[in-house]
Amino acid sequence: MRIGVTTRNTLTSFDAGAGERPSVCDFPGCGFSCADQSNMARHRQTHLTSRGYKCTFAGCGYAAKQQCTLKSHVLRKVRTRLLDKG
Ligand SMILES: [Zn+2]
Ligand SMILES: [Zn+2]
Repeated sequence: MRIGVTTRNTLTSFDAGAGERPSVCDFPGCGFSCADQSNMARHRQTHLTSRGYKCTFAGCGYAAKQQCTLKSHVLRKVRTRLLDKG
């Protein structure tokens, strides 16, 4: 058994009191949060551009820019659902 040599702390948590609170996406059911404003803007943009193909599963909220992307998402959902039954 090999134990990693690097003991670097790669935690990227937001420190309380840092003054920089991550902004949270206000899109219903998204919950995406990001401290970087430009990143946030780019994320919001995905909501605007990906309206065309929405997942039909209740409570999913997934939306894809391309139909093939949504298709693979739905297929994966269906497959896990079939495995879950019983
Ligand atoms: Zn969002
Ligand atoms: Zn879905």
